[in-house]
Amino acid sequence: MHYQTKTIVQQSLDALSENQAFLIDLKGEERNRAFSSLASILSTPNKVHKSFLRMPLENGKVVRIPSFRVHHNDTFGPYKGGIRFHESVNEEEVINLAFLMTLKNSLHNIPFGGGKGGIVIDPREYSLKELNIISRKYVQYFADVIGPDKDIPAPDLGSSEREMDWMMAEYKSIKPGQPYRGSFTGKSVVNGGSLGRREATGKGVYFSFRYMLHDFLTNQKDWLIKNDTIYAKTAIEEAKHPLKIAVQGFGNVGSVAALEAHSCKYLQNKVVAVSDRNVTLHNEDGLDILGLVKFIAGNENDLPSTNEQLEKSGIKATILDRDNLLTLNVDVLILAALEDQIHRKNMEQIKAKIIVEGANAPTTAEADKYLSEKGVIIIPDILANAGGVIVSYFEWLQGRKTQFYNEKEVFDMLYLQMKETMDTILPKFFGDSFPLRQNCYIHSVMKLSVVLYKQGKLY
Ligand code: NAD
Repeated sequence: MHYQTKTIVQQSLDALSENQAFLIDLKGEERNRAFSSLASILSTPNKVHKSFLRMPLENGKVVRIPSFRVHHNDTFGPYKGGIRFHESVNEEEVINLAFLMTLKNSLHNIPFGGGKGGIVIDPREYSLKELNIISRKYVQYFADVIGPDKDIPAPDLGSSEREMDWMMAEYKSIKPGQPYRGSFTGKSVVNGGSLGRREATGKGVYFSFRYMLHDFLTNQKDWLIKNDTIYAKTAIEEAKHPLKIAVQGFGNVGSVAALEAHSCKYLQNKVVAVSDRNVTLHNEDGLDILGLVKFIAGNENDLPSTNEQLEKSGIKATILDRDNLLTLNVDVLILAALEDQIHRKNMEQIKAKIIVEGANAPTTAEADKYLSEKGVIIIPDILANAGGVIVSYFEWLQGRKTQFYNEKEVFDMLYLQMKETMDTILPKFFGDSFPLRQNCYIHSVMKLSVVLYKQGKLY
């Protein structure tokens, strides 16, 4: 793992510290001390909770399953972040993901802090009953540190509304008579979940790309032509229509983002490749994304991986090795699988001019620097994939009021919230020489710094 979060936060603090108009009252030695305090506060989690769940398996054995809940920062409100069910979960990863949640919520003005959880299991290796017990045990072990006004978990990789329903029900049994609807988000609609939550991240990922390339730039063309900022110009001038798009990961986020790209009215797109944990499917004329969405629904969420399956489902595609997707000759790469997918070994072969990070931290620090310097635009995770937490916030609000929005209201509010963030960030990005990720971090860190300063936390 090559976490870059700390480094970019430090660079953001350095840039803010040099700007004497920012926190103008802080001068000289006092200013240095305050910025050093900010670096320590922001780069360290408030608390790391770790437990070993005692789990009786159906085969009669008892095992201990490591699990985590990290509270990174609660400056803006209760901690908020998903619970990952994956065999590679580890403490350092969960801390980094919680850190990203702090930055994401600050960036998008969501009144939550940053948290994250993880359970070290491959969920495919457990029965339904065992998964139910593991989910409930997680709540039993962490019941005192979670809750609607303390820390609100949600689904992440390997977990879904099913686990959130189980977890909320367990929380309700452990804390009778207390508010429980807001204890978990990403629940099913019948259990108090929000309409649109399942699609929210994928829709937001595509929206961030479309908004930059279409809505924002349509009115800014002249300004862009006059502007010599290398990051912006190369990528946008070289991306030819129809835009060839490849999507890595065809789960909750990737399949929805692919569908949005496929059916977009504003940009001419061709989704020419998608991949999952097994294969890449490629078709230069564009893939049948609707057909693939239908296929995965009946096939444990896996894409067709043999010619026989392709033929049977009427989908025209060539099967390639899984990681071939990343280096295909496309204009846009949407990364919606795992961390560290673009790295030192493949960064020089990346041909896309625009990368959209649906997953968290899919580009290593080294690859990020290399590609940004080459003029590739990377729409970073904290900007692009916030749809899930934004609609989770709507779910939490709806649970408090026990009044629910319809789907159109949810998506309208989601796009409005993302538009407001992008309207703040994009003029800065096109107007200075920092990559988009750095611009987003500066903005997030700036907001956190002001509040921490005003709360007297820097002395
Ligand atoms: P998911 O489990 O629904 O889907 C993951 C997809 O990635 C699957 O299609 C899987 O087969 C595929 N995959 C796994 N390993 C792969 C590999 N090496 N190469 C290509 N594909 C691979 O998960 P999701 O909810 O879609 O989340 C995807 C990413 O987005 C995760 O990193 C998650 O943290 C991030 N994210 C999700 C949400 C959300 O609301 N679901 C919100 C923010 C960020």
